[in-house]
Amino acid sequence: MGKKFNCTSCGACCRFVGLRIKQGISKDKFPYGTKADGMTCEKLADDGVTCTIYDHRPTFCSVEKQWSKKFKKDDRFKIKKQYYKWQMMFCKKLQDKVGVLEELLVNPEQYN
Ligand code: SF4
Ligand code: SF4
Repeated sequence: MGKKFNCTSCGACCRFVGLRIKQGISKDKFPYGTKADGMTCEKLADDGVTCTIYDHRPTFCSVEKQWSKKFKKDDRFKIKKQYYKWQMMFCKKLQDKVGVLEELLVNPEQYN
């Protein structure tokens, strides 16, 4: 445990992209819109957990690609594990808001 980012594929992050769009994320970084609720990514399948463009999803949606492109130069993170913990704390907050199945709950403590 703890050596890679253990995304549980809960889909919680995909249900809040409307916030980032409202905050002005550029179309270069995230070119999609939302479903009628104004929050959920239009590319999220109706099952609430499956990205319909997963293999072509933007860097913005990938914890690993964001590390390579942006966060490995961030002074807050001396090692990748610290970045994973920071990202997973966001996952936890989102999961707490939307509620997910128990088996999909994340545990940021695995990166201690
Ligand atoms: S909220 Fe976190 S655990 Fe859930 S799908 Fe997104 S990255 Fe994965
Ligand atoms: S493109 Fe896919 S991974 Fe990215 S927010 Fe939309 S559904 Fe989620």
